[in-house]
Amino acid sequence: MDPFEDTLRRLREAFGVGRTRPAEFRAAQLQGLGRFLRDNRQRLQDALAEDLGKFTKLGSAFIRKEPFGLVLIIAPWNYPLNLTLVPLVGAIAAGNCVVLKPSEISKGTEKVLAELLPQYLDQSCFAVVLGGPQETGRLLEHKFDYILFTGSPRVGKIVMAAAAKHLTPVTLELGGKNPCYVDDNCDPQTVANRVAWYRYFNAGQTCVAPDYVLCSREMQERLLPALQSAITRFYGDDPQNSPSLGRIINQKHFKRLQGLLGCGRVAIGGQSDESARYIAPTVLVDVQETEPVMQEEIFGPILPLLTVSSLDEAIAFINRREKPLALYAFSNNNQVVNQLLDRTSSGSFGGNEGFIYLTLPTLPLGGVGNSGMGRYHGKFSFDTFSHHRACLLSPAGMERLNEIRYPPYSDWSQQLIRWAMSSQSCTLL
Ligand code: NAD
Repeated sequence: MDPFEDTLRRLREAFGVGRTRPAEFRAAQLQGLGRFLRDNRQRLQDALAEDLGKFTKLGSAFIRKEPFGLVLIIAPWNYPLNLTLVPLVGAIAAGNCVVLKPSEISKGTEKVLAELLPQYLDQSCFAVVLGGPQETGRLLEHKFDYILFTGSPRVGKIVMAAAAKHLTPVTLELGGKNPCYVDDNCDPQTVANRVAWYRYFNAGQTCVAPDYVLCSREMQERLLPALQSAITRFYGDDPQNSPSLGRIINQKHFKRLQGLLGCGRVAIGGQSDESARYIAPTVLVDVQETEPVMQEEIFGPILPLLTVSSLDEAIAFINRREKPLALYAFSNNNQVVNQLLDRTSSGSFGGNEGFIYLTLPTLPLGGVGNSGMGRYHGKFSFDTFSHHRACLLSPAGMERLNEIRYPPYSDWSQQLIRWAMSSQSCTLL
């Protein structure tokens, strides 16, 4: 018998049905907590006295944002400049020294960063180091004061385990499969334009790209010609000749993606050319949830359409998988979009929109659960790379004011302490 099982199941179920979401619920619980403290003041004081024998004011309280120290930034290959330099900006702004480890797979960018970046930065504070999995493993044996890793969940676990050995805090910017729900009530061509642009941008090698579509069978039949039309408009009759379509990063990923083309049935595209590492913008239908294309992050120009019979079924489908980095919902009906927002969890959310939100410095980028932890971009980067040090400065003199803190506690001093506690929030209980 697991003594915790029932309790944990009950709490998870309550969270699952959205009990803790409404603002009124939260306010009521906090009011309850306040009542608990007020109603049981004496008993709590007795209990604290029994346990610890215990009982500040004046001075100034503030948060000082301090640099952590030596930061390690590990980057992937898919946006090899952006995903190294954007975190670097935050780490520098917050006052840290930085070791930057670009991906060994995007060799061109890695070379330029290693050769040129140090010429522009103070080399006593900033270093670019090179290496693949083995070298990065050795790098991670060293103690860093903060690590920001962008990459796959598999390697994220390796990084987090290595960081744990030194109790180093981490931000993990990971990936996963991003669902895209398309409601019956929407214009298929508008949706197809947006989904196709976001899916095939950078040849699908984008962590926040819509990974698969969930829609009704009727909507699938309307989306297919619309997707074909969007693909032709963007990339021409033969997308291989289009200068606007990217290529797959290397042979390994090309082979992996070519394998995924065998899942379900190709409805659009499906062509590939190994020598050019080209894979056509592709749409798959009749895909089973158990097929490889639904088991791994696609990270390529392939879009499976899966049919569901209702919004509830789509939400259940999403919720029985790992929490995604991004989730997209398309509908003319705001209530449908809001349902998706309210009843699911993801790092970010786009209603009738894709990942353009990445360009807004007012929004953080970060995952949840399997898609990562922590966040950055804009001010969030500064906060991520800063230790929030809680500080209280008291005057060195005026010791008489402190006397009420010290034992022995008379009735008068206890009354004074209660009054002080009810009028301010800083207590040493
Ligand atoms: P990856 O996890 O294979 O590699 C990322 C980095 O980790 C690279 O610098 C690599 O050298 C290093 N690395 C690889 N294996 C390692 C090991 N065993 N030990 C230590 N370090 C190791 O990821 P990738 O293939 O470069 O990038 C694709 C992944 O990144 C996708 O999952 C994608 O979704 C994710 N991604 C996430 C974001 C985000 O912002 N959340 C952005 C871009 C990419």
